[in-house]
Amino acid sequence: MPLGAQAGNSPLRVVILGGGLTGISTAVHLKSPWVLFEKESRLGGHARTDETRGFHFDKTGHWLHLRDPYTQKLIAELLPDQMVRVERKARIFSNGVLTRFPFQANLHGQPPEVIQECLLGFIEAWSRRDQAPPPGNFEEFILQKMGAGIARHFMVPYNHKLWGVHPREITAEWCSRFVPIPKLEEVVAGAVGANPPEMGYNIGFLYPKRGGIETMTRALAARMQGGDVYLATSPDAIDWRARAVRVGGEHFGYRALVATLPLPELVRRLLDPPPEIIAAGEKLRCTAVRYLNVATRTCPRSDFHWIYVPEEKYPFYRVGIYTNAVPAMAPPGHGSLYVELSDRGPMPRLDEILPNVAQALHAAGAIHAPDDVLFAELKEIQYAYVVFDQNYYTAVKTLTAWCEANQIFPRGRYGSWTYNAMEDCILAGREIAMKLDG
Ligand SMILES: Cc1cc2nc3c(=O)[nH]c(=O)nc-3n(C[C@H](O)[C@H](O)[C@H](O)COP(=O)(O)OP(=O)(O)OC[C@H]3O[C@@H](n4cnc5c(N)ncnc54)[C@H](O)[C@@H]3O)c2cc1C
Repeated sequence: MPLGAQAGNSPLRVVILGGGLTGISTAVHLKSPWVLFEKESRLGGHARTDETRGFHFDKTGHWLHLRDPYTQKLIAELLPDQMVRVERKARIFSNGVLTRFPFQANLHGQPPEVIQECLLGFIEAWSRRDQAPPPGNFEEFILQKMGAGIARHFMVPYNHKLWGVHPREITAEWCSRFVPIPKLEEVVAGAVGANPPEMGYNIGFLYPKRGGIETMTRALAARMQGGDVYLATSPDAIDWRARAVRVGGEHFGYRALVATLPLPELVRRLLDPPPEIIAAGEKLRCTAVRYLNVATRTCPRSDFHWIYVPEEKYPFYRVGIYTNAVPAMAPPGHGSLYVELSDRGPMPRLDEILPNVAQALHAAGAIHAPDDVLFAELKEIQYAYVVFDQNYYTAVKTLTAWCEANQIFPRGRYGSWTYNAMEDCILAGREIAMKLDG
C-alpha cells in the first residue's frame, strides 16, 4: 500500500527505484509528481539503525561529514538542536599499539624499526615524485606517494582487508579524494610526535543525539511530498521501450526513471536489453561486508570512535564505538560497537567466530575483557564496496550512457556504482530532481 496517494498512474511522473538517501532526496526535491518503490519494509537503505534491547546499531558506523553549504543548512533545518558535533578520534591498531590516524602522518608510537623503514621509504618516494609515471593501479599509487614501508605496514594490508581484493587489482583514480597524502614535513613531524592531533579531510562529524543515523534519514523522509511511497515492493521488470515499470501485474508509466538500486540489479530488471548492456552489467564487481553489532556490559575501555586494523592476524579491519560519540546509543553504563570482519569466505556461525573476535577486541583495547560482550549479532551488507578494477570505467560509462539515452538515471552510491558518502547521495538526489524539473 502506498504511504500517500497523490500522483495517480500518470506517465508524466518520475518513478524512483530505491528509498535510501538518494531516492528520498530525489523525492524531497522533486516538484514533479513521483512514485517511489522500496523493496524493504522501511526507508533508509544503508542509512538505517537497528535497535536490540535498547542498544542501537547503524549498518556499521555512519558518521555524517558535511562539506557543502546546502547540506549543512538542510540538516540544521531538519534537525534543529538534535545533532551533536564530534571531534574525530580515529586510531590505528598495529604492532600492539594504538596510534593516530592517518598512519602515514602519525608514525610516532610504532616500533622504532617500523618508523625507520616507513620514513626511509617515504623520503625515497618523495625524492622521485616528479619523475614517477601515472600509477597503473592502487598499489603503485601507494608506493609512489608513500613509499615501500608505509605500503607494507599499513596501506596494502589494510586496503586488502577492506576491499576484499589486493590493491593491485584496483585502479588508482578513485583514491585521490579519500586517501590523505601528507607532505614530507608532516611525515617527519608525525614520526617524532609533533603533528597536530587530527588531520585529514574529515576531522569532525555530526551525529544524531538519539536514535542513530536513521534519525536523520527519517527527518529527511518527512519532507517528501507530492508522491506515493510503496514499501516492500520491487519492480518485476522495467519495460524501457514503453517507459513503464511492471510491479505485480500493474504498469507504472514514467517520463523518467531514477534508479538508486544497485546497477547490476537494474540491468537484471530490464526487459530484453541490448547484448552490450548485459555484457557491461556482468563486468561490475562489488564486495560484501560482514559485520558484528556488539553490545557490552560496561562502557568500552578506549575513547576512540573507530580504529583501523591492518594486521592479518586480527579478524576485523575496522572497529567503531558508537557510545564514545553518543552515549545514548546504549543503555546507561553499557556500550555499543560495530566490528567489520575481513573474512569473505562462506558465512560463518556467530558462535564460531565470537570468542576470537572478543579476544581481539580486548587486545585492541576496545573492551575491558572478552566476557564484557553481552551479545553480538552477525550481519551482512551484500553491496558494500564497488571494486574499481580494469573493467570498471568502460562498463559504467557504457551503462550510464545507454540508460540516460532511455530516460533512466542511475544515481547514488550503488546506482552510479561508485564510492561515496551520505552527503553525496543527498546532493545527487537534489541534482537529479532539479534536472528533471527543468
Ligand atoms: C560499510 C559502510 C560504511 C559507511 N559509512 C559511512 C559513513 O560513516 N558516512 C557516510 O557519509 N557514508 C557512509 N557510507 C556510505 C553511505 O551508506 C552511502 O553513501 C549511502 O547511504 C547510499 O545511499 P543510496 O540511497 O545511494 O543507496 P542505498 O542506501 O543502498 O539505498 C538504495 C535502496 O534501494 C533499495 N533497493 C535495492 N534493490 C531494490 C529493488 N529491486 N527494488 C526497490 N528497491 C530496491 C534498497 O533496499 C535501498 O533502500 C558507508 C557505506 C558502507 C557500505
